[in-house]
Amino acid sequence: MKHIIAIDGPAAAGKSTVARQLAADLGYTYIDTGAMYRAVALACMQQHIPFTDESGCGEIAIHSDIQLEAVDGGCIVLLNGADVTAEIRTPLVAQGASKVSVIPKVREALVAKQRQLAEHCNVVMEGRDIGTVVFPEADCKIFLSASLEKRAQRRYADMLAKGNAISLDEIRAEMAERDERDSSRTHSPLKQAADAHYLDSTDLTMEAVLAFIEKQMIGE
Ligand code: C5P
Repeated sequence: MKHIIAIDGPAAAGKSTVARQLAADLGYTYIDTGAMYRAVALACMQQHIPFTDESGCGEIAIHSDIQLEAVDGGCIVLLNGADVTAEIRTPLVAQGASKVSVIPKVREALVAKQRQLAEHCNVVMEGRDIGTVVFPEADCKIFLSASLEKRAQRRYADMLAKGNAISLDEIRAEMAERDERDSSRTHSPLKQAADAHYLDSTDLTMEAVLAFIEKQMIGE
C-alpha cells in the first residue's frame, strides 16, 4: 500500500519547505504540483499560446514533457528536457499558472500525471486540490494557511535572496489576485477538504509546522 500525504493551501503558506522536509524525513518522494502548472504556463508563453486559448493550453498540458527531479534540498523542473527551475519562479509565470489552471483540460492532463507519479512510491504532494480531487483518499491531509501579509513577506524575502527586483507591494498584490482566482474557479478550487487538518502558520516556525503534521500522521 502506497502512502500519500496531501498538503494544500494558498501561495507561500510554507507548503514547499515543510513538504520537502517531511518527504526527506520519511524517505518519501516530494511532488510540487504548482511547478507543473507553472511549467505548462511557461510552455504556453514560449509557444505564444494565449492563456485564454483553452484548447491550445490543454494541448500544451497534454503534450509537454514535465519532469520533477529530486535533488538535495529541492527539486529540478524539466520542461521538454530543458531545466526551467528558475524560470518558472517569476511572478509572470505564477500569474500564468493561475490562469491556465482554471482550464479543465489542463487540470485533467496534470491530475493524470500526478496520479501516475504516485503509482509506485510514497509521496508528499503539495498543491491546491490534492486532498479534494487528486487524492481524496490520501492517508493524511493538511491545509496550511497564513495571513496574506506574512505570506507576501516570506515570498519577498525569497525573491530578495535570489536577487529579484520586486517590491513587497507588487508581491502582495500578485498573491492576492492569484488567491482570489484559485479560490473562485469552477473546477477544483483551492478549498480545504472536509477531513483535512487545518493549520495557520503565520506565527509558526517550520519545525512547529512539521511537528503538527507528524502528530496528525500518528493519529491517522
Ligand atoms: O504552488 P504554486 O504557487 O507554485 O502554484 C502556482 C499556481 O498553480 C497556483 O496559483 C494555482 O493557480 C496553480 N495550482 C493549481 N493546483 C495545484 C497546484 C497549483 O491550480 N494543485
